[in-house]
Amino acid sequence: MSEAERIVIAGAGVAGLRAAERLRELGYEDELVIIGDEPRRPYHRPAVNKHVLSGAARSHDVTLSSYVDLDARWRLGTRATRLEADRRVIHLPGGEEIRYDGLIVATGVVPRHLPGAPRHDPRVRVLRTVDDAHAVRRALAASDKPAVVIGSGLVGCEFAASMRQMGRDVTVVGHARAPLYRFGPNISAAMTDLHTRHRAGLEMGTEVRHWITTRESVGLHLANSKLLVAGCVVLAIGSVPAVDWLRGSGLVLEDGVLCDASLFAIGVADVVAAGDVARWPNLRFDEVPRRVEHWINAVEMGRAAAENLLAGRSSATPFAPVPRAWSGQYQVRVQMVGMPSLGEDTVTLAEGVTGFIRSGRLIGICGWDRPREMLKWTEELTERLPVRTPAKRRPLSPVAGEGASSTGTYRLVRTAASTPGHAWLSGG
Ligand SMILES: Cc1cc2nc3c(=O)[nH]c(=O)nc-3n(C[C@H](O)[C@H](O)[C@H](O)COP(=O)(O)OP(=O)(O)OC[C@H]3O[C@@H](n4cnc5c(N)ncnc54)[C@H](O)[C@@H]3O)c2cc1C
Repeated sequence: MSEAERIVIAGAGVAGLRAAERLRELGYEDELVIIGDEPRRPYHRPAVNKHVLSGAARSHDVTLSSYVDLDARWRLGTRATRLEADRRVIHLPGGEEIRYDGLIVATGVVPRHLPGAPRHDPRVRVLRTVDDAHAVRRALAASDKPAVVIGSGLVGCEFAASMRQMGRDVTVVGHARAPLYRFGPNISAAMTDLHTRHRAGLEMGTEVRHWITTRESVGLHLANSKLLVAGCVVLAIGSVPAVDWLRGSGLVLEDGVLCDASLFAIGVADVVAAGDVARWPNLRFDEVPRRVEHWINAVEMGRAAAENLLAGRSSATPFAPVPRAWSGQYQVRVQMVGMPSLGEDTVTLAEGVTGFIRSGRLIGICGWDRPREMLKWTEELTERLPVRTPAKRRPLSPVAGEGASSTGTYRLVRTAASTPGHAWLSGG
């Protein structure tokens, strides 16, 4: 009888949770360990700057449920500090080591800090976790001065909308010409109008030159000569992959964990990555590896990474989704499908629906409060974007897959050595 195997999932976010579920759905019966540095089970992170921030939801309201019995060993409030891939060992604080047969890296991203910002001032915050939302709430409660958010992307705009819905004054500061500028002129004009109608301040095309902190407030001198006085400042200027713990492990860390098209990490054996941290070539678009920082992608990628880890590298299937994301602001639902950020040009497809074109090809769409039309256009886009390399067919039932044992349960297909270099460049 062979020894029990152990799959470790590093990162207890949505990608990690959905990967764990998929392993069990496929009949993986051996040990499963989930390591997460936050003190709680995976939760609905999009609620952080909306319902948790407003107080409409408490932290346990946003906990995600599992669709199957995970029978996992949870190591919450525990940070993975180092990976030794050649020994298949993860280091935890206090000298503890966890051995693995297969590893799923799903450690997400961490908010980017702004050089020069007084980052130790409790009124200057980032917003990624439930604890961050609680800290922002405390800063807001301590002062009736306005809030300021630096960054006019999705997280910044959503924060501003939450502030206005909570009856707080807020100003968005961004160096782009308009909020959500990367989603094209139609969306950014509509977003400008929406925030203006709700009396959120917009200081666009500028940046912070100096910070002045006093007991009463945080002052921000902007490059356009304006002075903002705030009781709370949120930095929403993007994020960086949470890969510090992977340095020196042999994984290729280039803006995230570099993976092949089927999510196997380059450079080591039996490690896959999923969610915001993973950078992989989506063959539906091209062979350039990129990261996608959206919820639905993290869900689908977690599941795909689990399937491929069990199947083994040689039978793995490229992960080639049509990415889909949404943003809720005030009562408006903004939807993004495909890769709008790759667009070189835009076209109006229908009222409120913008198409993004690259080399004469539709590669993304954005909808402004048009959920029905977006369903239709999502189907259309999916048809127009076939996966370039045909996916290898692999049954998902535990009975017939490559990783299935004679008892019908899945075990890992172990890889002797990793594929060196950038496998997809040679068509691998
Ligand atoms: C405020 C906010 C609002 C958002 N709203 C939307 C939205 O409206 N729509 C949308 O599509 N997307 C939204 N997103 C993006 C979406 O939430 C993410 O794409 C998704 O959560 C990514 O999931 P993940 O599992 O890859 O990473 P995460 O959810 O970040 O989970 C990773 C987990 O790993 C932990 N971790 C990191 N390093 C270690 C370590 N060394 N050891 C152990 N654990 C570690 C992290 O603390 C975290 O708990 C939002 C994101 C934020 C921050």
